[in-house]
Amino acid sequence: MRNKIVAGNWKMNNSNSETNKLLNELIGSRFPSEIRVIVCPSFTQLGLVHEKLQNTNIDVASQNMHFADQGAFTGEISAKMIKSSGILTTILGHSERRSLFNETDEILINKVETAITENIEVIFCVGEELNDRKSKNHFKFVQSQLENSIFLLPKESWLNIIIAYEPVWAIGTGETASPDQAQEMHLFIRNLISEKYDGALADSISILYGGSVKPNNAFEIFAKPDVDGGLVGGASLNAEDFVKIVNAF
Ligand code: PEP
Repeated sequence: MRNKIVAGNWKMNNSNSETNKLLNELIGSRFPSEIRVIVCPSFTQLGLVHEKLQNTNIDVASQNMHFADQGAFTGEISAKMIKSSGILTTILGHSERRSLFNETDEILINKVETAITENIEVIFCVGEELNDRKSKNHFKFVQSQLENSIFLLPKESWLNIIIAYEPVWAIGTGETASPDQAQEMHLFIRNLISEKYDGALADSISILYGGSVKPNNAFEIFAKPDVDGGLVGGASLNAEDFVKIVNAF
């Protein structure tokens, strides 16, 4: 059985007091016990959020990390720093990191390898731009993102990998992939894992959908057999919406 996961990517939002308020609302909410819930605050709030959620079943992940152990990388955060805040999961390869901060497949595989070495679980994002979808190049595009990054890992490293399929045209736009489009891509990714490694591994990997997941569309998307959850941006900043999304499973 694959893990069902809903992760909230808070991006660069919320002061400490706003985060505290959101956390209080989440802590007071009911989540189905079989769903793993993760929140991803900014670096400056990782310790605070970890501490506040310690006796709850809500996990915390970082939104990014650097591949180097330490050194002259002004503004960056290492795996060890994340771990020293109690965090054992990170998002890597979010489309905003790829497009706004020029993170290439090569940079990303370095980051993933560091995370695996440090026993940090990775939520690895892939997804095509609108042009790729319009030109029907979306499968090839996602395949190449995978082949140039996490498909370079040995099978053992996949114990710590979660994939998030996030079509870039659906992120923060209010436009969502239809449940069928999500299912089709998730199945495609799972089949690629099966061909590259084996069927048992492919069956065990959680593949989350991301791109304008909201309370009014989560149920239909999560009902698809190869969709194992969601990576939620905007709607995760509102406790009521996020709780509804988690409960849409
Ligand atoms: C995201 O940032 O990963 C995301 C999916 O954002 P949104 O839900 O706002 O589209």
